[in-house]
Amino acid sequence: MKIAVLKEETGETRCAAIPETVKKFIALAADVMVESGAGEGASVADSDFTAAGATVGTRADVLKDADVILTVSGPDSRTLAGAKPGALLVGGLDPLRRRQEIFAYAGAGLEALAMEWMPRITRAQSMDILSSQSNLAGYKAVLEAAAAYGRAFPMMMTAAGTVSPAKVFVMGVGVAGLQAIATAKRLGAQVSATDVRSATREQIQSLGAKPIFVENVPGIEGEGSGGYATEMSPEYQKAQAELVSSHIAKQDIVITTALIPGRPAPRLISDDQVASMRQGSVIVDLAADAGGNVEGTHAGERTASHGVTIIGASNLARSLAADSSALFARNLYNFLSAFWDKEQGRPVLPDDDEIVKAIRLTRDGKLVNERLSGA
Ligand code: NAD
Repeated sequence: MKIAVLKEETGETRCAAIPETVKKFIALAADVMVESGAGEGASVADSDFTAAGATVGTRADVLKDADVILTVSGPDSRTLAGAKPGALLVGGLDPLRRRQEIFAYAGAGLEALAMEWMPRITRAQSMDILSSQSNLAGYKAVLEAAAAYGRAFPMMMTAAGTVSPAKVFVMGVGVAGLQAIATAKRLGAQVSATDVRSATREQIQSLGAKPIFVENVPGIEGEGSGGYATEMSPEYQKAQAELVSSHIAKQDIVITTALIPGRPAPRLISDDQVASMRQGSVIVDLAADAGGNVEGTHAGERTASHGVTIIGASNLARSLAADSSALFARNLYNFLSAFWDKEQGRPVLPDDDEIVKAIRLTRDGKLVNERLSGA
């Protein structure tokens, strides 16, 4: 049983394994082969992987006879020549935006498993790359905002006078939003937050922030599979826009994280609302890659609009590569080890398993995921 760890393409700093997960795979009696330089962006040297028991080699070396190929953001299929048909390709494969690549993986006989389609069920929590990476992105979004803001976050009483605390508003209180609230609180800001899911009200309060909720139109009740965000009614959207308009004009920093699974991000802040903020305010749009929550956001770019800086944050987890790689690598290990058959010495993925059904994209040369074939 051989596990290959690929060096990612340019721009991807993270690595799909760390020495800790290499050791754990070896403890399951697997051989681990790491492509030379794979850990560079995440501050892991080839020698660290070798010390953990892996073999380091070229792309061709590691692909040869590999049963499992680990990746963070999905390799160009042309670089996988020599991979064994039937091998598992496991990682963040971005299936909807990389359809042609997924077809090519099928053509090469690979069994592609998209970790971002992990179902949000308790059993899969430790395998969830979206959660692990969003958590770090929520933290980094606040640091980006603080760095771009020409004022301080905490209140400071000095001999030369008082510096007032920054007012931070977090829109969308999922994994990233909760971490953004906690980080802004630690930096001493006055924090408020909103979501469409009523269950987040208590979570906001428990972090010491102020909930700002639409009261006259019902939001989404409950948590779990029934409680995820959907597109809201026009009536709700109107009430939300009014609420945001009155609140946002008083804010210095806004962090938006609102996403709707499988849909473009909801538009939460209009250009007029941006214009109502005071000069020097900062908006970080964590939904930029999904189309953005803010009018005028460009993914990966920083723009100025009405004196307000809008940061279209794209994949912030990459800027914390050592930590984000460690969490990502553990997500992959937790997934594979949960399905490990000790007698066969390899992962066995039952067709009727909820996790397998959700993440398996290709098998035996064909697309096998309804979400992809129906897209
Ligand atoms: P997400 O990234 O899909 O969305 C971020 C937040 O935006 C969500 O809280 C959503 O309700 C909110 N949102 C959507 N539309 C909005 C709008 N118009 N206005 C304001 N907010 C809006 O969410 P997420 O971070 O993946 O987490 C969602 C929930 O799922 C959380 O309760 C989280 O704990 C849970 N979760 C569970 C698992 C698991 O059990 N395995 C894994 C991940 C997340």
